[in-house]
Amino acid sequence: MPRIHALPDQLISQIAAGEVVERPASVLKELVENSLDAGATRVDVQLEEGGVRLLRVADNGNGMEAEDLALALARHATSKIATLDDLERVASFGFRGEALASIASVARLDLVSRARGASHAWRQRNDRPQPEPAALGAGTVVEVADLYFNTPARRKFLRTAATEAAHCLEALRRIALARPDVAFSLRHNGAERLRLAAGGAQQRLRDILGGELADQARRVVEAAGDLHLSGWVALPAQAAANRDSQYLFVNGRFVRDKVLAHAVREAYADVLHGSRYPAYALFLDLDPAGVDVNVHPAKTEVRFRESRSIHQFVFHAVERALAAPLAGVQPDRSFAAETPSTFTSYDRGSAVGYPRQGALAVREPDASAYLAFAASAHPARTASDGAPEASPPGEAPDAAMPLLGYALGQLHGIYILAQNTGGMVLVDMHAAHERILYERLKSAADGGPLPVQPLLIPALLDVSDLDMATAEEQGEALAALGFEVGIAGPAQLAVRSVPGPLAAGDVATLVRALLADLRQHPATRVLQGRRDELLATMACHGAVRAHRLLTLPEMNALLRDMERTLRADQCNHGRPTWVQLSLEDLDRLFLRGR
Ligand code: ADP
Ligand code: MG
Repeated sequence: MPRIHALPDQLISQIAAGEVVERPASVLKELVENSLDAGATRVDVQLEEGGVRLLRVADNGNGMEAEDLALALARHATSKIATLDDLERVASFGFRGEALASIASVARLDLVSRARGASHAWRQRNDRPQPEPAALGAGTVVEVADLYFNTPARRKFLRTAATEAAHCLEALRRIALARPDVAFSLRHNGAERLRLAAGGAQQRLRDILGGELADQARRVVEAAGDLHLSGWVALPAQAAANRDSQYLFVNGRFVRDKVLAHAVREAYADVLHGSRYPAYALFLDLDPAGVDVNVHPAKTEVRFRESRSIHQFVFHAVERALAAPLAGVQPDRSFAAETPSTFTSYDRGSAVGYPRQGALAVREPDASAYLAFAASAHPARTASDGAPEASPPGEAPDAAMPLLGYALGQLHGIYILAQNTGGMVLVDMHAAHERILYERLKSAADGGPLPVQPLLIPALLDVSDLDMATAEEQGEALAALGFEVGIAGPAQLAVRSVPGPLAAGDVATLVRALLADLRQHPATRVLQGRRDELLATMACHGAVRAHRLLTLPEMNALLRDMERTLRADQCNHGRPTWVQLSLEDLDRLFLRGR
């Protein structure tokens, strides 16, 4: 049996380096964080061969006194905390006092620093016992050369220089996103890869995420007690196939945190289906006592004291930001929960599935559109009783122009073409209507059982044995969703009622889709959990289909509906429901100078 013995200092640091100095990017992170802790307002990074041959960080921070230089390289030596109390309220990036020691144990380290007010700078190298005088205007320059030269086993884990440089760049971008007040640059093998001027948060976001994404992202600003969340969440339509553009910060520190990431993912769940990843940059600030940052040596993980309430807070903040209705229009919440009350009577045509869409109830302030729309749903009455037209008076002042304007016509049975103050609007009518119905169904369901619309004449549909069996088994679930479905014959079902918001839909298609959905995922006890999914199916099949011809009043009613519906900007699958082409856009298309 070998005897127990204390490890030499160098080996202890090399072991610690295993956690702190995973690759050049982690060295970069530690050095740049030190610069920021030292109050730097500009940080310049230089890499050679992916940062393995050389990684140099120069800052204009407070610098160090000569006698502190040797200590800076010692293990567990820090200027940032002194007591346990300090640790619990730590506001600096560093506090463990082991980064420089760890780096020095696996690389050649050269530190040059000039404290503010000092007559000159001092240099400390990890292979020399004493600092020596050096020349430097201000701040600190740390050079890390030949990373892992003495630990070849670790060196084997390094990837190509290009890959390591890419990781370094990403590490710097993360830090930079949270510190728009600081200027950063990065060069690799002499070539400039990043240059960021100090400025505002919005500009920094554009620099890091790209202008298009940043400009269209939704702003988040929420506070509750000592919790504060700010930042941006990109629209679902801009989601990417990977998580590259997801940035979470806690008290200015970039973190990977399951609680926060889950809260954000949940907030998008309603507007983004499938395997797409939304971009976001969110900054959570809270009392440092409420979060433990001393969980992992690299400090990219944190532990919240009150993780449940933080989850809720972040979830609601992001959900609200995404749900905000079209810019400048207040949602009419009462509207969403309404059942179109005027459609109490049914003609057989709409009940058994002729594509007679159009029960888009529009309440005030646009009653005229509603009347016209209602009239158009009953063509027999249209001509004779002269329902008022919803089209705008020609001389309508701009101020009165609704956000999405007025419809001009329908393109290929798929898009609505409208004109608004800004120029031209194109609406994907199915996607938009689907979202409206979905939101209406959800808010109706939130208030209890879905309001039911009895059909005067039941809709009959011929079904397979499988559908028949499902209808029998899932009768309760169907009833909870507002469908009363009975057996009319050996292979025929009779639908006697449908949820109010879907009253004018194609009942047969709707019920068939729902039966198929229920068969795949039986919804006996789990109805609540799957409620939104089922409502989405209902909305999809209840929504107006392509090639259904709409009248102008119907189109206008749809536009008005969109303006007051939550999340109307995107369909249930994260695609946009409308696009705006401004007059400038059109001028550009025609190379027309104005
Ligand atoms: P920590 O950051 O946890 O304190 P480090 O090993 O990263 O530990 O750094 C040790 C100490 O060296 C810091 O506490 C700080 O006083 C000093 N230091 C490191 N880098 C710089 C810098 N760029 N400018 C000024 N002081 C620095
Ligand atoms: Mg540090």
